[in-house]
Amino acid sequence: MRYTRHYEMRQDPGATTTSALEPALLALSWDTILRDLYFTQDTGCPEDAPGLLEAFQQRVRTELGEALDDAATALEQSLQRLCVESGVETFTQLAGVVPDATARDRIRQAMKAVARELARKALDRALDELLEQIHQRILATCSAAGLIEEIRALIRRLLSKSELEVFDVLTGTVCANSDLAASARSTGSDAVAYLLRARSKEWVTESDKRVCTICLGNKVIGELPLSSRFPSGHPTPPAHPGCRCWLRYHTGTPFWVTL
Ligand SMILES: [Zn+2]
Ligand SMILES: [Zn+2]
Repeated sequence: MRYTRHYEMRQDPGATTTSALEPALLALSWDTILRDLYFTQDTGCPEDAPGLLEAFQQRVRTELGEALDDAATALEQSLQRLCVESGVETFTQLAGVVPDATARDRIRQAMKAVARELARKALDRALDELLEQIHQRILATCSAAGLIEEIRALIRRLLSKSELEVFDVLTGTVCANSDLAASARSTGSDAVAYLLRARSKEWVTESDKRVCTICLGNKVIGELPLSSRFPSGHPTPPAHPGCRCWLRYHTGTPFWVTL
């Protein structure tokens, strides 16, 4: 049985374009899976060809990485804004004055690398998750016709999911509400606390009944040196998805005094 007809049908006619990911995913599903996994093999499960699977995964990573590049840049900028915002708050709290233009500029500079790393990690995590799902579906499907249907269904699932988890997060539109935003704010505060040579940090929770035992454990330990980890193993919030905690820092020396 040959699958030329499917191979030539590059786009699912029933699919509606919901994000920039779709063309990349569709191209990958038809081109790579069918050609690399099936046109080179007449029999057997794809798992008989681990080398092909690896090559396929590598290609997904590269192509989707490129497709998501603009989104990652937008995310980076949006994370940088959050880092700077919380950095400025921490500065004001610790130094007792609002940072002047020079200090703001130094904070902004310090946050560039931080935001880039956060954005790249988020993109890698999104790609890892995607690859794992594709991998599982390929291994679970031993017929080519079945695989085509599986991949189509997977693409639909990924696209509906990516709207929130990949695309919205990567473009920063829901950044203010996401755990990624919490990480950016924490990282921003922490970087400024280091710049200001803060003496210690303290885990602060909301004061309601929704606070979990993990976060309470971090709170009751009290003040810790900046480089220490809290009992949960985290140096800063969030301790888990949906964590609403933040850090309070204690007196530091402005970095322009010590530099
Ligand atoms: Zn918690
Ligand atoms: Zn928490």
